[in-house]
Amino acid sequence: MVMGPTHAMSGAAAGLAMAAVLPPTWGGPTSVSGAFVFAGVTAGAALLPDLDSPQATIARSFGPASQALAHVVERGSAAIHSATSTRRDDHRENGHRTATHTLAFAFLAGAGVAALVSAFGKPAVLGVLFLMLGLALRGLFPKWVKKNDWLMVTGIAAGLSVLAWVASASVSGPALGAAVTVGVIAHLVGDAGTKMGVPLLAPIVSINGKRWWDVAPPSMLRIKASGPADKILLGAFTVLSVALTYLVLLAPESLGANWA
Ligand SMILES: [Zn+2]
Repeated sequence: MVMGPTHAMSGAAAGLAMAAVLPPTWGGPTSVSGAFVFAGVTAGAALLPDLDSPQATIARSFGPASQALAHVVERGSAAIHSATSTRRDDHRENGHRTATHTLAFAFLAGAGVAALVSAFGKPAVLGVLFLMLGLALRGLFPKWVKKNDWLMVTGIAAGLSVLAWVASASVSGPALGAAVTVGVIAHLVGDAGTKMGVPLLAPIVSINGKRWWDVAPPSMLRIKASGPADKILLGAFTVLSVALTYLVLLAPESLGANWA
């Protein structure tokens, strides 16, 4: 797989770009701080699909709680795969890169967040921010996180989410949901570029009787995850995120945004 930090950084870049182009009337951010909250959510959401892998960055994000959750998600994904796969589909040893690595999951996760926010209001916004920013910290600053206890990281995530909540008090459920969907899609695009590919349209669209066919680029363009190519991708997404951060801070109008 592509490593966690690369996924998170690609999510941050996608979130900053989307924050700039999404019109405020569609729930886009109305301020610079709102744009960063948006990018933090997409960066965190870009780790969500690997919740089906107990060894992944995300599973260690919130200590034993997230580790236990990862096992549940892995088993659940395996169950969904075996319930929907046909005789022509390949057998899977475990649930990794199945249910949570589909566009259906990307849209369901976003719709779920939007529904939670419309049902429970501000507490739901705070909860979503806490989870997503906690993941984003893990993904974007892995060295700093390694030096600190997960409890301390979780405490900082809680503080940040309250700040983010205050800074973007008007954030709507659909906008938060859209940020989650964009983050998950950024993850899927990253994984689709690696050797195994991802079952993007499973289990909805079947081809040749297969419901879990993987979308992957031609073999010569595929990259070996965690090899030098992952480092190059991480570097490229970091440069892109830094450039976008610079523009969001100093020249948002050059991105088409007109924030106060
Ligand atoms: Zn993945």
